[in-house]
Amino acid sequence: MTASRIDGKAFAARLRERVGAMAAEFAKQAGRKAGLAVVLVGDDPASQVYVGSKGKATLAANMESFEHRLPDDTGEAQLLALVEQLNNDDAVDGILVQLPLPDHLDEQAIISAISPDKDVDGFHVINAGRLSVGQNGFVPCTPLGCMMLLTDRLGDLSGLEAVVIGRSNIVGKPMAQLLVDANATVTIAHSRTKDLPAVVKRADIVVAAVGRPEMVKAEWLKPGATVIDVGINRLPPAEGEAKGRLVGDVAFGEASEVASAITPVPGGVGPMTIAVLLRNTLVAAYRNEGLTVPDSL
Ligand code: NAD
Repeated sequence: MTASRIDGKAFAARLRERVGAMAAEFAKQAGRKAGLAVVLVGDDPASQVYVGSKGKATLAANMESFEHRLPDDTGEAQLLALVEQLNNDDAVDGILVQLPLPDHLDEQAIISAISPDKDVDGFHVINAGRLSVGQNGFVPCTPLGCMMLLTDRLGDLSGLEAVVIGRSNIVGKPMAQLLVDANATVTIAHSRTKDLPAVVKRADIVVAAVGRPEMVKAEWLKPGATVIDVGINRLPPAEGEAKGRLVGDVAFGEASEVASAITPVPGGVGPMTIAVLLRNTLVAAYRNEGLTVPDSL
């Protein structure tokens, strides 16, 4: 069997286009554009790139982008004051504080200060709680993007066996919750799981969110499984390469011979994250204006 590639890049491009068209409608209805504020502290090069691309994508989706770039030595009180100002700004529907923050800042304290109704990353404990009890809130962008790819591919997930490898608050746990809510039978595997290959072998759906290059092997997979690879790992550069290749947590080539569908890295889950962030921001904007969120969002 050769698996079909789940093209997250194309799916994300379509989602961004749809959100952009709906954001233009929102602006007509509300008399203002939806707005996303992104806060970056320090000069981490990867974070600079992410923040730059989030800003561009926001503008391209007919929304306002507010960027706040603060120096590395910004104090907690100063950052909390900015968050408070954004919480009270009616032009701002979503607030995203780019992680990781410099070591002297307490990430949990900063995230807790964001209004849960503007927490479009879905990292606030209120939103984690809403997800776990089935209330409307914001779901972290990466697992929600994975879920969109899965339901697009498989339709109804009822009764399917799903194994999520990884139990982080931003990917593994919310991913498992979304799968349970979709009536899958879910196992969360992690660094202490015994005989991981045997656990993975049960799965109709495998979501790998570990951060270990090509850890999941073809022989671990049940033939015909659908594989979502969240991992982004850079290999050391081979001879003659300036930068090492990007690979996922799944050995893509060999896994493609056993799975029925699989996301590549890059071009799978990665592009979904920003697209879902834009979607969450537009949802926030509808809610903040007291308007009904369109079903198609
Ligand atoms: P994390 O480090 O917070 O969590 C990793 C998890 O993997 C932990 O729960 C740990 O128990 C588990 N784990 C570690 N070693 C293991 C092993 N040998 N066997 C089984 N489980 C093991 O990571 P995270 O933030 O959840 O991210 C996971 C990966 O996903 C990373 O590669 C990250 O770069 C990537 N990621 C991608 C996106 C995106 O595509 N936009 C977003 C977030 C994270």
